[in-house]
Parts: sequence; structure tokens; C-alpha cells
Amino acid sequence: MREMIRLEPVFKQMVWGGNRLRDYFGYEIPGEDTGEAWVISAHPQGDCRVSEGSFEGKSLSWLWENHRELFGNMEGEEFPLLVKFIDAREDLSIQVHPDDAYAKSHENGARGKTECWYILDCEPGADIIVGHRAETKEEMKRLMEENRWQDFLKVRPIHPGDFFQIPPGTVHAIRKGTLLIEIQQNSAVTYRMYDYGRMPGGKPRQLHLTQALDVVRCPHKDSTGERITSHGAEYDKEFLVSCPFYTVEKYDIRGTLELEQDQPFLMVSVIRGKGAIDGCPVNKGDCLILPAGYGTARLEGNLSVVTAHC
Ligand code: ZN
Repeated sequence: MREMIRLEPVFKQMVWGGNRLRDYFGYEIPGEDTGEAWVISAHPQGDCRVSEGSFEGKSLSWLWENHRELFGNMEGEEFPLLVKFIDAREDLSIQVHPDDAYAKSHENGARGKTECWYILDCEPGADIIVGHRAETKEEMKRLMEENRWQDFLKVRPIHPGDFFQIPPGTVHAIRKGTLLIEIQQNSAVTYRMYDYGRMPGGKPRQLHLTQALDVVRCPHKDSTGERITSHGAEYDKEFLVSCPFYTVEKYDIRGTLELEQDQPFLMVSVIRGKGAIDGCPVNKGDCLILPAGYGTARLEGNLSVVTAHC
């Protein structure tokens, strides 16, 4: 049996970040404006390192480059996915991502971005933006030019446990008071549409309205599908989404779960409680990869995990 790959998070300080990644997960964050923990990432802007075992100290991109057998000899120049925990103390800018084809031709061969969110915690009355109300691009352009963001955006109330799938071309924004886990394609191409007129550091952040108008899908169509729940003796399983880039599931465990790892790799993020995976203690906030050929993993304790694979 191959060993699991435990990873150290990379933290990102953001104008909109806070300190809940410390309070909720116990992480040692670098400042009171920590917006993101990149917990499973081989992205050059945040390449996680292995925290223990044979590959201790190596980065995930190094493992992908030099030990592709751990990932079922998958093809591709880069590790394909990225998992983050996000703490929004303030609203994030209204944004949209391109698809692979648009990013390839307009962003030097970069990848597009499909992402999804599972809400871990939020303040009462919190909301999130997914989608818009314009029927045509002309209407969208007019609403944007007239600064009628309230008429344009679809604002949705949220509660812990909600889930959203955000394909390319979907207008979206995480808003203040929200703590979530995001699973996404390994990409950082973002077109910012609106930043609430904020002036961090005395000047506005750059907008990308031309590209946004190119890529926004019009009219908007919701992509979050049906969640399917199944029950084991000592766990509940919830299927959250499957798309061409990833499949995401959640397990609430009270006792034991035998999890067969038959994927090229399986990403496991502990979002609640504590326990052990094959005898190794895990706590809320621990994230790891079960490599190809791992076999059956035994998860024990009172904990919830989000799993994702390609
Ligand atoms: Zn996004």
C-alpha cells in the first residue's frame, strides 16, 4: 500500500480576508487579513509541501513532475485541481472566469476555471452572488454601464451546508461573513467586473470588462445539480457534483468508513471533527491525497470529509 500524501497549506493575505482560518481550523495564519488557505495545490503561486513521510519537504508540483505513478500516470503538464479554504471578512469582487478554450487563446495557453463551493459556515443573513438577470449581452452591457449592479446580479441567501457549482462564464462573488471550501481547476485567470468602488491602497483594483463581456454566459442558467444522499451503517454520503473536471462528495462519519481509492488520486479534506485515516490522526483542516493504488482507506472517528477526484 502506498503512503498518503499530507500537505501543508499556503496562506494568502487579501484585502477582504480575516482571521477565521485560525479560529475555525487552528491554522497559524500570517495575519488578521488571511483570506485563503491553499490546502491542495501545485500552482506556482502557492505550491503545497509534503509535511511528513518519504517525500517530506517536496512540493506537490515536484511530486507531479517526478512521481507521476502516484497519480496513476495521468497526462498533463500541471496537477489539474486546486483546493482552498476561504474566509471572506469582506465582499469579494464580482468576477467571472473563462473556459479552457478562451483562456488558451487569450491568456497564453492558461487553463480556464470551473469551481465549486461548499459553505462551511456563514453569518445569519449572509448571501452569495451566482448568476445575473440580463437576457442579452446588450442588456448586460447597459446595466453595467449604468452601474445598476443590484438589478443585474442574482443574490442568493446562504446557509451552512449549501453547495454551488460555478462553470466558466458564471458571474459570481463570495460575500462577507462566509467560510467555505472551494474545489477548482488549477487556474488563476479571473476577470473582475465590479469591486464596489473600493480603493485598497488608495486606488481601484483593475477591472477586465471587455473580457468579462466576452465570456459571461447570457442568459444565466443554474448549474448546481441534485445532491444525492446515501447512508451506510456509520456514515452518510452525499454526492455533490460531477463535471468534466472533478467529482466531489462529502462523508459524515460517526464510526468507520471503508473508502475504496480506485481513482488516479483522491483528495481528502477534513472539514469537521477529528479521527484517523488508517491509524494516522486527522483534525479539522487537515488535507491530503490518497495516491493511485492506495487501496481501501479506513476513516474512523466523528468527522466530515470532502473528497474530490478528476
Ligand atoms: Zn471564482
